[in-house]
Amino acid sequence: MTLPPALLASLQAAPGFAEAAFVQAHASGQAITSIRLNPAKPVEGLLDGFGTAVSSVPWNSHGYYLAERPVFTLDPLLHAGAYYVQEASSMFLQQAVVQCCPQERPLKALDLCAAPGGKSTLLQSVLPPGSLLVSNEVIKGRANILAENITKWGAANVVVTNNDPQHFARLSNYFDLIVVDAPCSGSGLFRRDAAAMDEWSPANVELCSQRQLRILADILPALQPGGTLIYATCSYSPQEDEGIMDWLMGQGGLEGQRIAFDANWGIVETESSGAYGYRFYPDKVQGEGFFIACFTKQEGATGNGYHGKPKKQDIPSRHEAALAAQWLQNPNDFALLKQQNDILAIPQALMADLALLQSTLYIKKAGINMGQPVANGWVPSHELAMSGLLPHTVPFVDLDKTNALQYLRRDHFVIGDGPQLVVGWALVRYLGLPLGWIKAMPGRVNNYYPKDWRILMRSE
Ligand code: SAM
Repeated sequence: MTLPPALLASLQAAPGFAEAAFVQAHASGQAITSIRLNPAKPVEGLLDGFGTAVSSVPWNSHGYYLAERPVFTLDPLLHAGAYYVQEASSMFLQQAVVQCCPQERPLKALDLCAAPGGKSTLLQSVLPPGSLLVSNEVIKGRANILAENITKWGAANVVVTNNDPQHFARLSNYFDLIVVDAPCSGSGLFRRDAAAMDEWSPANVELCSQRQLRILADILPALQPGGTLIYATCSYSPQEDEGIMDWLMGQGGLEGQRIAFDANWGIVETESSGAYGYRFYPDKVQGEGFFIACFTKQEGATGNGYHGKPKKQDIPSRHEAALAAQWLQNPNDFALLKQQNDILAIPQALMADLALLQSTLYIKKAGINMGQPVANGWVPSHELAMSGLLPHTVPFVDLDKTNALQYLRRDHFVIGDGPQLVVGWALVRYLGLPLGWIKAMPGRVNNYYPKDWRILMRSE
């Protein structure tokens, strides 16, 4: 692998850069595989399934390195949302959130550049209970994969939006935490994806840096005084890292936050304009290239500066609400909304926020879509199967791995021994986690796994 000479030249003055070791780390071709577990969907013995050589990612309480890269597509637990395959360095976001945003009260958080959902699923696992997470992606096609990953993760407190950063202007002083995992020139991932080097150029670094400034300028007004901004890239270029810190500090009203870490982790702390950044080099950490910095917005203007009118919500009829309640373990915790024919379950505490967000943003997904009332009952949605909101009385069948994969392919599968299925809806589970729905009919079983999500891969 030959790294772009212009990249190496531009990094000579970058804090902690050691050219020979950096080049060697890229030449080694070492491939690090890491996953982050979903604490809301624990599976006993999950790590044992990856072999013995599993070790913890030291800066993330749910992160693990795997000795080998399995074919993740052929693991039903991935599709069940039991874990997310995430680059280890970027899991440091947990430290930034926990240390810079230590409040235990529910927070309003925004993940502005969220697809495909690595940071958002991490945030869901570390935000205080009762928090709201707005997970936004500007590119429509990428917002679909974001919504899919959020659905698999299963939390009801997330609103997925598909907006340009500018559209958040009306939500001034609104969020307690904003994460900007900015689009960047991507040099931090060259070791993993050498082809990405073809798109790298000094001109592209400049372009990315200008775009990062625009994104931050657009979104800063949406941060509450006292709130936290976390900025991250997977670029080594100072123009996209310290250069952006300098610009942010030059705006006034922000204070840099320091993040404590163990010196053995190999992270390089960098200081510029009174702010602190954290550089991850592959020759020093067990992970790929990453940069993160944390800021607090100084106190000043207070309160929610939103001046729009909350959107009027459509609510289901009493009959529809009664039907829906039968599909919830704790119906009193949720407000129900109607969206065309679908019923959404929204945590009660988040209803007022949702009404505000709906009046100013394009909402792709909010809370849990429960499905639809129909003439003779209810058609439950896939989101509901993945949500963990269902009562324990819902019938289920447990499949072995071979048949779970067949189910996920929407192909013929065999239900083993167990209680006889009665006619109606049942969950399909693997190692105790729901994968989706089937409907038992006299003499046959219909597979309701979403067509667009089905596995196409046959075998390794
Ligand atoms: N946070 C994601 C994760 O952990 O899975 C990765 C985000 S990726 C580094 C940057 C994202 O920013 C991409 O999904 C990209 O589509 C989006 N993006 C591109 N241009 C943007 C813009 N002008 N404003 C906001 N987001 C943008």
